[in-house]
Amino acid sequence: MIPRYISNFDLTDIPRLYTDFLIIGTGIAGLYTALKACDGGKVTILTKRRLEDSNTDLAQGGIAAAIGTEDTPRLHLSDTLEAGAGLCDLPAVEVLVNEGPDCVMELVEIGTRFDRVEGHLALTREGAHRQRRILHARGDATGEEIRRALSDQVTRHPEIDVHEDIYLIDLLTEGNACYGALAWDLARQQKVAYLARSTVISTGGAGHLYLNTTNPGVATGDGIAAGFRAGARLADLEFIQFHPTALYHEDNPKFLVSEAVRGEGAILRNRLGERFMERYHPMADLAPRDVVARAIVDELRQTGEPCVFLDTKKLPVPFQERFPTIYQHCLQVGIDPSRDWIPVAPAAHYIMGGVRTDADGQTNLTNLFACGEAACTGVHGANRLASNSLLEGLVFGKRIATRMKKKRDDVSLRELHRFSSRSRGLGEPSGSLTQQAVQWRQRLQTIMWQDVGILRDGQGLSRAKETIRGLVEGSLGYELGGGSRLGDGQPDHPR
Ligand SMILES: Cc1cc2nc3c(=O)[nH]c(=O)nc-3n(C[C@H](O)[C@H](O)[C@H](O)COP(=O)(O)OP(=O)(O)OC[C@H]3O[C@@H](n4cnc5c(N)ncnc54)[C@H](O)[C@@H]3O)c2cc1C
Repeated sequence: MIPRYISNFDLTDIPRLYTDFLIIGTGIAGLYTALKACDGGKVTILTKRRLEDSNTDLAQGGIAAAIGTEDTPRLHLSDTLEAGAGLCDLPAVEVLVNEGPDCVMELVEIGTRFDRVEGHLALTREGAHRQRRILHARGDATGEEIRRALSDQVTRHPEIDVHEDIYLIDLLTEGNACYGALAWDLARQQKVAYLARSTVISTGGAGHLYLNTTNPGVATGDGIAAGFRAGARLADLEFIQFHPTALYHEDNPKFLVSEAVRGEGAILRNRLGERFMERYHPMADLAPRDVVARAIVDELRQTGEPCVFLDTKKLPVPFQERFPTIYQHCLQVGIDPSRDWIPVAPAAHYIMGGVRTDADGQTNLTNLFACGEAACTGVHGANRLASNSLLEGLVFGKRIATRMKKKRDDVSLRELHRFSSRSRGLGEPSGSLTQQAVQWRQRLQTIMWQDVGILRDGQGLSRAKETIRGLVEGSLGYELGGGSRLGDGQPDHPR
């Protein structure tokens, strides 16, 4: 059996900090939840590197909301459901599209500088959106601008403490309730316990499960794994979104060429210069992401080439003006998008599944919430609609804050002290599991890319499962067994 905790601890032996609301992760989900919760108690946010190290900071294309004159939440709902391939949770999508516009306007109010045309918010399109509804900032630096605006507010607020270089190890639980988190303080090289009335997992995605990904190094699925060990219900983990157009070069993370580039008129071409998306979907180059990614894999198989190309000649605005970040990055690797086709190939980008929550972000564990990419609210179904994930962090972060404040006094300080004065955890002797994980990392990424990637079949999935089982049992001596918590792949579709 895999031990409940990945590391031994005795809370009476390590520094303990008490807070009302513990938020783990400083992406859009964590920062916005903190801002919304801080009028109801003390908020502590942890992050394993610096505040800005997150998927949020890299988001390019924008954030979706039905604010255009021709648009409605109903139309946004229908595009979201269609992209989600029939597996979205309808009530959750209704929450997202109905509450989204207000949340986005709150971002504007706190100083997020979205791009404007003649004073009005500029709206673009991305794949599978039938309307222009994507707000963006500095062309293609939307995430960085949103993070800047949110972190300006968060770091100035007297009721919010941000602790950088603090690494979530495990959630602290007793029975069915969560009382905070055990973490590793990278600067002091010691364990530290954060005791909290409510805890929010907002640790983002897991792109680095794969050999090729657009995600930054922090996206290793830690919060989802900690939730799993604590007994939180997970869902939809099999749904990984592969972005069709990551710049084809050797670096990892792969640099993203935003879908908004196609939204503005760029066209995908194969090695022979043929426009191929019309053969795969009526929306051609603006088909949903999963369709485009599979079409590219199909083309690559036929031509034997490692990449296809984005032809940006027909953009109405000069490339360097509309997409300055992408332009600069391409120049650095010797491609001038105003003249050359951009070589692109798919890469792991986003995880639709995560810690299962209800519409208020509540997990099946008392006092434990999950938000953003680490959560599975059900809004994305099998395939996330472009620019819906930043929005999800806002909408459900706000709901979580409301719920946490309402139930603040359900857990007393006395209860937290009682828990921390007697809690111990049995896990691996310090270090051994972590050392193994470092050794396995590239092996695991290769297995996932080859057998659990864009195109999968039963044979490949079984091979991946057995190889991973062999790694765990062979190196650590854990018996996973047939019905183990590592799972026999039983899907969890509560919808
Ligand atoms: C290149 C790129 C472009 C994208 N473009 C768009 C876009 O245009 N529009 C859109 O809607 N979405 C986009 N996405 C997706 C979107 O950015 C993310 O899904 C969203 O930002 C997730 O926000 P989050 O707050 O849940 O997680 P993140 O922003 O990833 O934040 C997670 C936080 O948790 C911290 N963390 C992780 N593990 C630990 C640990 N063990 N201990 C402590 N802290 C930890 C991280 O350091 C980070 O601070 C893009 C993603 C990428 C990678």
